[in-house]
Amino acid sequence: MEDHHVIIIGGGPAGLTAGIYASRGHLKTILLESMIPSGQAYMAEKIENYPGFPDGVSGRELIERFTQQASRFGLDIQQFTAVDKVEVTNEKRTVSAGDKKFSAPALIIATGAKWNQLGIPGEEEFSGKGISYCATCDGAFFKDQEVAVVGGGDTAIEDALYLSRLTRKVYVIHRRDQLRAQKILQRKALEEPTIEFIWDTVVREIRGEDTVKTLLLENVKDATQTEVAVNGVFIAVGQRPNTDFVQGLIELDDKGYIITDQNCATTVAGIFAAGDVRQKSLRQISTAVGDGALAASTAERYIEEKL
Ligand code: NAP
Repeated sequence: MEDHHVIIIGGGPAGLTAGIYASRGHLKTILLESMIPSGQAYMAEKIENYPGFPDGVSGRELIERFTQQASRFGLDIQQFTAVDKVEVTNEKRTVSAGDKKFSAPALIIATGAKWNQLGIPGEEEFSGKGISYCATCDGAFFKDQEVAVVGGGDTAIEDALYLSRLTRKVYVIHRRDQLRAQKILQRKALEEPTIEFIWDTVVREIRGEDTVKTLLLENVKDATQTEVAVNGVFIAVGQRPNTDFVQGLIELDDKGYIITDQNCATTVAGIFAAGDVRQKSLRQISTAVGDGALAASTAERYIEEKL
């Protein structure tokens, strides 16, 4: 069993910022991450609303910079397939990851969220064969082809804009007639001639042979069904938090997000949550970074009181 002052789970903006603050505060800190580097921020092609980068910055560059900064202060970053369990015993929080166990008085959970699936016929069958959940990862496979994006949030519209620069045509299939995405993204997408919006419509089935060939669509207002030919489909219908490993241990909301107080403390003493994994109203890199700083400083105060 390895002993630390702070264990951080998750290597996105929240976890790495917590790592910078805790390590810089001379706390012996380990960060556990399943894939390094990874996460939703890392996948973003261009981030325009994170302060300090007037021309925008790629997710990859931003996360690499966070990692370098954290390493400079001595953060120990270790890669694990998955964290299996968290136990709270004798003032210690113990994290089991494979055959290793780590223990510390304070634990910061910054595990973010993963993409939702549509749960329709063909989705499993064609996953990786024309279906993707990450436009910046897989968009290049569809150069000069026709693709669809499902969803109407920031991710869907950013994906559509990104794909419009690579592909011949992008259909955006959205279940309502209004987008949820930020106005600036909406404006760009609505002005882009290669993007065609299909409103009030859901995908009922993804059809193909070896790879995706068509989508069976249904208009939610009049139930008419149509089939549209595409080479690929990007599913961007939101996310759900990575909190399975703490279910039953700390309080979660009805969607599985961790409930915290304003200082990122969860309902279990010594366990803190930061970033997209926590119940909050705005999930952005800038708010994740703020959470990471707050969680580390609250953890530091907690440790000072305990030790
Ligand atoms: P989101 O905001 O939850 O949007 C999900 C979209 O998918 C919504 O338009 C929703 O429709 C639709 N949807 C959900 N379930 C569906 C289903 N079963 N069938 C069809 N459509 C479905 O998710 P997101 O776009 O991934 O964004 C997640 C968070 O990250 C947000 O807080 C977002 O602001 C943030 N984000 C920010 C940026 C940025 O600032 N640059 C980029 C990406 C993401 P309805 O609209 O009808 O609910």
